[in-house]
Amino acid sequence: MIYLDNAATTKTAPEVVEAMLPYFTEYYGNAGSIYGLAGESRKALLRARERIAGTLGAEANEIYFTAGGSESDNWALKAVFEAWQDKGKHIITSRIEHHAVLHTCEYLEKMGARVTYLDVDSEGLVDPGQLERAIRPDTILISVMAANNEVGTIQPVKEIGEIAAAHGILFHTDAVQAYGHLPLAVQECHIDLLSASAHKFNGPKGAGFLYVGKKAGIRSFIHGGQQERGRRAGTENVPGIVGMAAAARRAHEHMEERAQKERMLRDYLIGRIEAEIPDVALNGHRIRRLPNNVNFSFAGMEGETMLIMLDMAQICASAGSACTSGAVDPSHVLLAMGLSKERARGSLRLTLSEENTREELDTVVEELARIVARVRGMMVR
Ligand SMILES: *Cc1c(COP(=O)(O)O)cnc(C)c1O
Repeated sequence: MIYLDNAATTKTAPEVVEAMLPYFTEYYGNAGSIYGLAGESRKALLRARERIAGTLGAEANEIYFTAGGSESDNWALKAVFEAWQDKGKHIITSRIEHHAVLHTCEYLEKMGARVTYLDVDSEGLVDPGQLERAIRPDTILISVMAANNEVGTIQPVKEIGEIAAAHGILFHTDAVQAYGHLPLAVQECHIDLLSASAHKFNGPKGAGFLYVGKKAGIRSFIHGGQQERGRRAGTENVPGIVGMAAAARRAHEHMEERAQKERMLRDYLIGRIEAEIPDVALNGHRIRRLPNNVNFSFAGMEGETMLIMLDMAQICASAGSACTSGAVDPSHVLLAMGLSKERARGSLRLTLSEENTREELDTVVEELARIVARVRGMMVR
């Protein structure tokens, strides 16, 4: 099998599993209890909080553990709206956010929020000038993702943060694709809230965190016990949090080395597809791009068809479209970038890891070329 869907989820690293195991079988105490066994869980949570805070230049008490990226995004947007709506009800976001942000914004609109959805250019970039012009006296929050999950475009996070800070507006970034893959410094980039998810950086599924800087004055999200300083009740997922911290350590220790390797593989794959398959177009920015993201549109093709045929060749990939009840909706990200519905439907996303080899990518290009030639050959002209 050749796995090229690392933007959807990653393999849990063996050392991460190793770090987690004792917290299932040995140190299984509830961190809220008073006996010695519980102390082991408490210590593990403290270490994890410190380790994760350290990767962002944050303080340990600014990290809140959650069940993943979707929860962190929901929490950030809903709690900021709740806490600041007396000041204003206007939120600025972009059209290419993950649905965890976009659908939360739609929900908040029903609760009285006013939301501006910024356009992006043909490469998926938000224009900071346009963002600044969208600010109104009642703007309370800017939420723009650090890097896009479909096309890999990396946003000018620091510029956006500086604009937000200059206007006294909170800045949230969905960094689920960026954290552990690109360096992120919350102070330097004026980030007030940041979402991340362990399973996108070789950690376990169902564990994530929300960074909340002091200025944001966050509200409780899950009501109940006193966990997470009374803001997010529920017995802590100690093994998941320990695994996330081990994955964060691993990701940050070899970040540049791994990114370098992935960029080489990425550019090799892009180069071969462009050279060997006719009528293809790269989606997203060629340079301001996640090290592991490849996304192409193939003229005359359907993404879903390519996925099924690649699966028959044991290749896992993703299409820039969501198949809901039989109808294929073209990706909102590609449409926002100005692509035609047809070109959006013919898109394919291949997201690499450092474990992929050139030989694997050679196989992928050969299979893709064969699939494209076969389908195009059957088309009635
Ligand atoms: C995967 C992803 C999410 C959702 O994270 P989960 O942990 O799966 O809930 C949110 N935003 C982006 C950009 C993502 O890639």
